[in-house]
Formats: sequence, structure tokens, C-alpha cells
Amino acid sequence: MTDYTRPARVRVAPSPTGHMHLGTARTALYDYLLAKKTSGKFILRIEDTDLKRTIPGAEREIMDGLRWLGLDYDEGPDVGGAFGPYRQTERRDLYTQHAKMLVDNGHAYPCFCTPDRLEKVRQEQQKRKETTRYDGTCRKLSSDEAARRIAGGEKYVIRFKMPFEGSTTARDLLRGDIVIENKNLDDSVILKTDGLPTYHLAAMVDDHLMQITHVLRGSEWLGTFPLHVNIVRAFGWDEPEWVHLSIFLKPSGKGKMSKREAAEAVKDGYSIFIKDMQELGFTPEGLLNWMALMGWGVAENDVLTMSDMIEKFSLDHLNPSPAAVNFQKLDHFNGTHIRLFSTDELAARIKPFLTKAGFNVDDARLLRIIPLIRERLVTLDDGIDFAGFFFKETVEPNPDDLIAKGLDARQSANVARKAHEILAALPEINHAAAEPPMRALVEKLALNPNQVFGIVRVAVTGQKVSPPLFESMEIIGRAKVLERLQKAIEMLESMP
Ligand code: GLU
Repeated sequence: MTDYTRPARVRVAPSPTGHMHLGTARTALYDYLLAKKTSGKFILRIEDTDLKRTIPGAEREIMDGLRWLGLDYDEGPDVGGAFGPYRQTERRDLYTQHAKMLVDNGHAYPCFCTPDRLEKVRQEQQKRKETTRYDGTCRKLSSDEAARRIAGGEKYVIRFKMPFEGSTTARDLLRGDIVIENKNLDDSVILKTDGLPTYHLAAMVDDHLMQITHVLRGSEWLGTFPLHVNIVRAFGWDEPEWVHLSIFLKPSGKGKMSKREAAEAVKDGYSIFIKDMQELGFTPEGLLNWMALMGWGVAENDVLTMSDMIEKFSLDHLNPSPAAVNFQKLDHFNGTHIRLFSTDELAARIKPFLTKAGFNVDDARLLRIIPLIRERLVTLDDGIDFAGFFFKETVEPNPDDLIAKGLDARQSANVARKAHEILAALPEINHAAAEPPMRALVEKLALNPNQVFGIVRVAVTGQKVSPPLFESMEIIGRAKVLERLQKAIEMLESMP
């Protein structure tokens, strides 16, 4: 069982190489929960040592994304902290020093092999059907010779010297001991020719210096986990608790979530990128609930708020098995959380979507609309369809939609005229006053309610689907309702 009495120091360590995705967000969430649960600290570290892959703006997106999700970090590049800098490119000297420490204590060595030579070695190994790996040429160089070649200006990398004999046991909190024969391990590069470290060195050094207690990361790092454990041990440091989180599978559950699959999701109105999710109208609450349960063994359909999650969270309940990305569940959780918002809160969340869609939003009116649409919303941008027309001066119904099923244009015009008469006779159009005479009209004309109310709905809202009709008319107001019905009558009468 994990000890929750000691404050945890946990970090999310994304590389700014693209959009922030679900995997990073879920790792950050679990980090955050663990930090909150133990009164510890949650840290953002930007792993930007792969200069070729760094994308401008990606770091900003990560910071904005974490804050939007409500996963505020205690230490990070833009908030500071006692263990900074929090951007790896600003920590170069530390990595150089630490690589040198490993060379000095015999755990690493400079390697002068050129890319051409390495490629030849690789091809020969492939021909012999051997595992491709570094062949150890420079491991055999004496330190004098290595020093001479460095002084002579030769380019080199630093490789970590893996033990040849025995085995390495690495312990993952979710998977137990992972044992690997050392003879199967390669001498990996830890410092590149440009003087920048690879992940293997940088992350180990930083996790140590930043006093990270639990390393939560994707299970794509399981392959190099023994290397990481060996590096930490070569320094003589204590190891953190290692937690390799489950991978994401495609919605079908067959195969890993790939780039192609991610593109498919966009076509269906979903995405695996946090920024897209925000724009699509998903809420942080819904998203967090959904992603929390992908890999965490609380009941699958539990509706959890942040404080529920903090209370219930336990590393011991994380599930190492792959988790299928199920967007229908996301819809479910998003809608559920939307219904938990107060009217004021929901109005404040929907307003930016309406404004962005070009509507001039009146706040008082929006507050009256929210109760009518709350139950129907799956995403916040559904508010555009359900509430946008309330902010239009005029509506333009599609003339064909004004014709009720089973009636022609002339008959529909007649229904509209009768409805107009009834509503015009009312001093105010509200639910209580308008519904009884309108229902009586349905009876009198021997039609069904859908036919009569359908015509009125299209006429006054401009659309076939809307919130409840009488409440909607109440908000639209008597004058506009009558004016729009009149216009619909004219449209219908002018139809052949
Ligand atoms: N920079 C690594 C990545 O983005 C971080 C892995 C880790 O959390 O250690 O995958």
C-alpha cells in the first residue's frame, strides 16, 4: 500500500512537440490528485531538449491546457519554485556535470562512432539476424585515448555503460518487479553531440534534483525502464516510486490509439487534444471525470467532482491494463456535469460559445433560457443550436419546414392563422395562458399536437428543434411571436 502520510512531489513532464493530448492530461490529473491527497506539490517540467521537434506555442498550450482543466501546478516555468529552472534547455550545465560524473565513476563513456559507422554495424547485425545495438567499440577505449580524441576536436556522444552480467530488477508500482537480463540491454546515448541530454539522463537527473517521490508516466517508457533504474543506481540515488500508466486503445478496443484514429475522432466531433476538446464544448469537469476513469478502478460510471476524486484517489487502484477511449462515455459525463452547474455558472460557460457564433447575448435573457435547455445539452456548444435563435432579431424558417406532416401549404397556413388569432387575443404569451387555448385548437382541428405546435415552432424559432415551445415563446415575447407567425402565414400563402 502506498504511504499517503508523506507529502508527494510529482511532476508532469511533457515535451513541447505538438498539441497537448489526453495522455498528458490524464498523467497530470493523477499527479495532481496525489499531490492534493498528500498535501504535496505538483510540478510542471518542460522537456524541450529535442530542439528539432520543439514547436513554438506548444509550451503555452500545455500551460493553458493544465490551467483550463483546473490542474494548477505549484512549481513550473511560469510560476517558479525552489527547484528550477523548470525548462530543460535552461538546465544544460546540470546535465553536462552529471554526464561527467558518470564518466568519472566508470558508468559512462564518450563514443566517437559516426552515424555512418553505426548504420553499417546495424545493417550487419540485421543480416546476421541479431538484435541491433551498439557494438561497444568505444567502451573499450582507454580514458587517455578518449581524452586525446576529445582534445583533438572529434565529435562525440556520452553513452551509459550497461552492466554485462546479471540482471536488473525494476519495480513498477502497478506491475510489480520487472526483471531483465543485462546482456540484453544496450549502451544508450545519454548526452548528444550538441551537448544536450537525451530523456534518459535529463529526466533522471531532474527527478532526483527536484526530489520527485513518484514518477507517473506513460507505459511507452517501460522498454527503457531498466536503463533508467540503472542510471539512478549508478549515481547512488534513491529511486522514486515508478508508476507506468495504461496505454489508450482505439474506441473499438483493438489496437493503440493512432494518429489516424485521432483524425477519425475529429470527424465525429471529438478529439484527443485538450485544446480541441475545449473548443468542441467539453467541460473540464466532464473531461476530468472521463479521463480519471480510464485506468482507475473506481466504479466505471461514477460521477466524480474534483473533491470526490481527491478523496477517493489511490495509486493502488490504478489499472495497468490498456483502456479503450470511449467518446460516448465522454458525452455522458460532460452532459452530467453540465446538469450539475448552477444556472449562473452554465450561462457563463455557454456565453462565449454564443458570442463566438456571432450572437449578441443579453445576460438576463440567457439566464431565463438556461433552465429550458440544460437537460438537452451534451456539450456547451450545443447551446448555439438550442439558444442562439433567442438572440436573433428575425428568423428565417425554411418554407418547407412550415408545412406540417400530412397537411399541404394552404392547410398549414390555416393552422398558423388560427394560432395567430388565439395568441393575439392574449395580453401576454406565457405557458399558463397559451397552452390551454392552443391545445383546444388541436382538438378542434382534429390534428395531432405535433402538427400544430410544429408549425408554430418553426414559425417563431426558425428551427424544427427547440426548447419547450410555450416557454420559448414567453422569452421571445408577444410582439415578436405574432410578427413571426404573420410572416409564416404569408410565406405559406405564397407557396404553390
Ligand atoms: N517528456 C516525456 C514525454 O513527453 C515525459 C515522460 C515522463 O513523464 O517522464 O513523454
